[in-house]
Amino acid sequence: MLRIGGTIGILGGGQLGRMMAMSAANLGFRCIGYAPPGDNVAADVCTEFFANGWDDNAALESFAAKCDVITWEFENVPLAAIDALPSARLHPPRGALETAQDRLNEKRFVVELGGRTAPFCAVESRADLDSAIEQIGMPGILKTCRDGYDGKGQWRLANAGDVEALDLPDVPTVYEGFVEFDAEFSVILARGQDGAIRFWDSTRNEHEHGILARAVLPPGDLIAEHLDEARALAKQVADALEYVGVLTLEFFATEQGPVFNEMAPRVHNSGHWTIEGAATSQFENHIRAVAGLPLGGTSSVADEVEMRNIIGKPAEGALALLDDPSAHLHLYGKADAKDGRKMGHVTYVHE
Ligand code: AMP
Repeated sequence: MLRIGGTIGILGGGQLGRMMAMSAANLGFRCIGYAPPGDNVAADVCTEFFANGWDDNAALESFAAKCDVITWEFENVPLAAIDALPSARLHPPRGALETAQDRLNEKRFVVELGGRTAPFCAVESRADLDSAIEQIGMPGILKTCRDGYDGKGQWRLANAGDVEALDLPDVPTVYEGFVEFDAEFSVILARGQDGAIRFWDSTRNEHEHGILARAVLPPGDLIAEHLDEARALAKQVADALEYVGVLTLEFFATEQGPVFNEMAPRVHNSGHWTIEGAATSQFENHIRAVAGLPLGGTSSVADEVEMRNIIGKPAEGALALLDDPSAHLHLYGKADAKDGRKMGHVTYVHE
């Protein structure tokens, strides 16, 4: 168990690390961040921040020497950087990052555990794409196996014209059939070092242009009927990975049941509502898990909760949201709103 005043290292410097570090401070821990130079908004709330490249082994070593445990808030930390750190103090485990960094690995892993996914095929060439489309049909989505997020690195293919116009990326991709879904949701769980698991309620997640726009409780019957099956799969994934921390699985609710889309081996945007809407937030339970403490209760404190992202708009405008006294505003301190960046979020908890 991490001693009070102990230090947690966080790989990645974004808003997830910022909110994690704030929860860690509430429990009497200190955080040191590490990420390549950039708009690292976690640095504002960390005791110390290493703005160094992922390939800077000397910096990674000095960072690790100062940390009692190490975690991440960003799943694309190169495995070579992870390997430069002492694995005994790393939570979640390396295998979770390795599995989740590659869409193809992730889908194969989930299928092996008995999960349902969209039909998919690995694509590394035009010929692969042609045979994938022949097998799966159209419409479908071509996604880069690595480094995609918020709908980036994705191409929707509805007809032969789209396929012809496509500039096939020079990296491994996966083609998947388009899923006709009723709604989208995520299962977020925390798993402690003793293997105990707690689930938060699942929100209905609404995306705009591939980016999460809103997360809403209650999720509605279409999602509620799939939760047992989706949670059972999430538990299997967490147990198989010997996971420690917060893990997120994203699903489509369909007539056939829950269809797994992707996983995030970390706290998740669709769980930000838990800060005010649940007995213990995803950030606090992640810190508790990596620190070896018991997990806090995850039940919702209200029947109706809504989280909205503030995307690509200057943060100043968001202050008007505070005219509604039920609004809980979180601004991430980002320098500018370019390229549809997530600048903050607002949560409404309705008694
Ligand atoms: P992803 O980056 O895989 O989470 O995709 C971003 C969003 O695109 C998802 O939340 C869905 O709204 C949509 N999407 C992704 N894959 C599919 C699919 N196979 N069928 C239908 N919609 C999809």
